[in-house]
Amino acid sequence: MPVSSEMRILILGGIGEAAKLARALAPVHAVTYSVAGRGRAPDVPCPARSGGFGGGEGLAAFLRDHGIELLIDATHPYAARISRNAVAASRSAGIPLWAYRRPVWRPEPGDDWRRVADWAGIVAALRQFKRPFFTIGLEPLRHVADILPRQHWLVRCLVAEPPTTPRLTLLRAMGPFSLEHETALLRDYRIDVLVAKNSGGGAVEAKLTAARQPRIPVVMLDRPALPEADREFADVERLAAELSESGQASIAAQLLENGLV
Ligand code: NAP
Repeated sequence: MPVSSEMRILILGGIGEAAKLARALAPVHAVTYSVAGRGRAPDVPCPARSGGFGGGEGLAAFLRDHGIELLIDATHPYAARISRNAVAASRSAGIPLWAYRRPVWRPEPGDDWRRVADWAGIVAALRQFKRPFFTIGLEPLRHVADILPRQHWLVRCLVAEPPTTPRLTLLRAMGPFSLEHETALLRDYRIDVLVAKNSGGGAVEAKLTAARQPRIPVVMLDRPALPEADREFADVERLAAELSESGQASIAAQLLENGLV
């Protein structure tokens, strides 16, 4: 079976660049776009599916059942479970895995970043502060017992029920956020430390700029380690460009090697 110019591609998405990639590839390839189903409905010109696959084996079964020829992991850098499943599933199904790995943010002169590896590191780094602003998703809501008596936590996340404690304020919101918005928020809530993931990208970067001038320290949670994909890209334009004839030729070679063509 020759590899056709139109390939069946599954994109694991959930971030802006993944949808952009789907828009770039959909006119030439048979693209399916997949989301976990917790955010906005995807705006893509191709079939979209929503919800988990049932682990790596479930994803591998999906790849086989739908004759997928190339799997693309374009998920958020902290979505480690689906990225690990993608590696296992692509191996199991014998197809290549390409990944978009969003470049990290780097501290600028004057920034006071304190890198931590996990929740325990965050708690230790926050001991000297009173009014932290958490932008790391739902995790802080599972640890309200860690709020020190003199602390008040501001937690921003997509969806959640507020826990019943007056020492925590929950903001339900989805980026992008402007610099003006973030500056006002830090000021109005008298924030003295920002807790962030090193997400990279532009949509939620304004909080770092807003924290810079008043010299608000940033407790930065390290990215999870991810297994290597067959090819990794730091921008989606480059990835899309590779799915030209030459890119397809290398995929054809790998499929041949795996005995699938
Ligand atoms: P995760 O911990 O890696 O994934 C949890 C489970 O959700 C996976 O095991 C998988 O379920 C399902 N899943 C995740 N992404 C999926 C996708 N694109 N299509 C189908 N199922 C998917 O991920 P997470 O941190 O909860 O993030 C969930 C989604 O939100 C990701 O797709 C990510 O791109 C997006 N997102 C995450 C963040 C963040 O900070 N983590 C920020 C912005 C956007 P099964 O095992 O059942 O297949």
